[in-house]
Amino acid sequence: MTAMYLSDYHFHTRCSSDSTATLAQQVQAAREAGVRELCVTDHWNLLDQQGNRLPTVCDWAPSLAQWRELRDRCPGGLELRLGVEVGNGVLDPAAVDASLELPELDFVIGSLHSQSAAAGGRGIFTAAHACTKKEDGTAILDDYMDMLEELVQTRGWDVLGHVIYPLRYLPPEYGLDLRPWWDRLAEVFRAAVDQGKGIEMNTSAGATVDQWREVLALYRDLGGEVLTLGSDAHSPQFMAAAFPQALALLGELGFRWLCVYRRRTPLFCKLDS
Ligand SMILES: [Zn+2]
Ligand SMILES: [Zn+2]
Repeated sequence: MTAMYLSDYHFHTRCSSDSTATLAQQVQAAREAGVRELCVTDHWNLLDQQGNRLPTVCDWAPSLAQWRELRDRCPGGLELRLGVEVGNGVLDPAAVDASLELPELDFVIGSLHSQSAAAGGRGIFTAAHACTKKEDGTAILDDYMDMLEELVQTRGWDVLGHVIYPLRYLPPEYGLDLRPWWDRLAEVFRAAVDQGKGIEMNTSAGATVDQWREVLALYRDLGGEVLTLGSDAHSPQFMAAAFPQALALLGELGFRWLCVYRRRTPLFCKLDS
């Protein structure tokens, strides 16, 4: 693992409302984990957990300031890039495109953290915890797939963020997975591949490695090669979490590259076999 060019392309700092970590702390943790390149991807959400609209103009100032302060002073020559995780950009793709016109921006994760406006717009985390029966969970996944199909047709993303996201929070006793939506997921992946875009493998701080197997195998079967790896660490102890297991799975599934980004364009770094 030390030989390859290891990158963590999804983590948060105190520029995200759900993290108190400083960028310096995250960089230090990454260095200790053997990571060579990092991309900081703080949240820009268009909805809050209750479904209220948030500003449709991204305030870049805090993210830019902390990134500029550290980028040339990273220990051990670690490469630090600036990204963003856009939440529910499907609500206003034109506004997203406008805010992404930032020359320093290397990478954009397109994520869906909330239900559609039609379904009430609540956070998927909140909605999943309010489920009282399996059908509630199925409805959340159905709505999620509708939005994913919309998202893949917009411009404001480079990789689709944690595509298994609702599975993180749905009650495990329902035994839900994405198989009933497999054909639709395949179409989403085809659309990403056709655009030269990709998906991420998101270990969710080490919690979701196994849940990725079938989804990644499908993406790989469809010719998917553009792939980033991220821990989604909101605190330093989860930086690069479960990367050895994730890399083993990627190798097993036949992935040959991990991507890093320069100005929204992927560069392919060879995976150790
Ligand atoms: Zn996310
Ligand atoms: Zn995240």
